[in-house]
Amino acid sequence: MKEVLITSGTSFEGYDIVGYGTYKFTQTILNSNFLKDFGTSIADIATDRRDIYQEKIDEILNETINNFTDMVRETKYNAVVGFRTGVEEYTNNVTAVVASGTLVNIKEQYKSEFDKSSFIRNEIYVRNYYDLLVPRASKVVLASEGKGTKISVWFNNYNNDDIKALKAELQFTNIYGDNITLPDVDFTFDKTNLKLLKSDYVECKLPDKYIKMISSVKVYIKKYVKASGVYEIDADSIGIEMSDVKFKALKLKKGIDAVANYKSDGLVWTCNCGHVNEGGAEECVICGRKQDEMKNSITFNYEPMLEEMKTKEYVIEIKDVLMKYIKDIDTGMRMQLLEIMESGLNYEKSRGSMKDSVIEKVENLFLGL
Ligand SMILES: [Zn+2]
Repeated sequence: MKEVLITSGTSFEGYDIVGYGTYKFTQTILNSNFLKDFGTSIADIATDRRDIYQEKIDEILNETINNFTDMVRETKYNAVVGFRTGVEEYTNNVTAVVASGTLVNIKEQYKSEFDKSSFIRNEIYVRNYYDLLVPRASKVVLASEGKGTKISVWFNNYNNDDIKALKAELQFTNIYGDNITLPDVDFTFDKTNLKLLKSDYVECKLPDKYIKMISSVKVYIKKYVKASGVYEIDADSIGIEMSDVKFKALKLKKGIDAVANYKSDGLVWTCNCGHVNEGGAEECVICGRKQDEMKNSITFNYEPMLEEMKTKEYVIEIKDVLMKYIKDIDTGMRMQLLEIMESGLNYEKSRGSMKDSVIEKVENLFLGL
């Protein structure tokens, strides 16, 4: 049976009115004795009769609304706006219950794939990169509306190239540690010449029930097409070994293309994009990040302290190590470190050793993550 939506207002949330029909009404005439059964007129009905009267009217009202809805169903319209009901008293004791409204056609508003609650979605940062001035796959989005899995890959386009298409092999690892490979996936782009390219969604054979089980992905670029020709990457990609927590923190703080922590030995410096630059270079030759902006202002050499912390078993002992070093640590960080210890100690009471999580938090703090 055709569904008919009815409102007393002028619109429906989540729908657009795409066509207006005519104003319609239906009425149910009550027999002339109807009011006599209750009294002389509606106004005169005594309060003790009102309930019975109301019940009868409600029943007739429902019937009238049903008739109205049935009438709409027979038409090419699927909704009614400005819907009204009322009791009309005509002359000669003829009373009618009336339902009226304007017929319209409505259509569900377009919802982007991202707005749909039924949408399964998983975004995974890419676990490999090429240390070259080529498109860098940084994120893979897997999504399904229940009609098969679609993939979009985000590329950092450092060179602002006019990338028209890109062929890549995607290697997924699921939470069991099994690999699933999709060879030769062709990506196209709606908008190009952007610093961040988001590919169009491509259908793939990965069943949608696996979307949530994918934990990591590597993207091997086979070929890409620019206005000036077809290119291949003449180098191996570099895998990124880093805990998930640290990897996500790095992406959040340093950008989705970040794959490494900044470090410098004076002669060369490693950029967040993973490229090792000459000590004198102010800017990274791949991603353009400025060395000055990446430099950590922390002077305390935290690595020996971390090593010592790792030899301990419980937060209470780790805190002792911290207290040994604390006078040398930059004052701005002391409070945060003590807070990490306090919360670790608290959790440890109920959850067992919090050693790993506390050490990770300390390390992230020094790395500026
Ligand atoms: Zn860089």
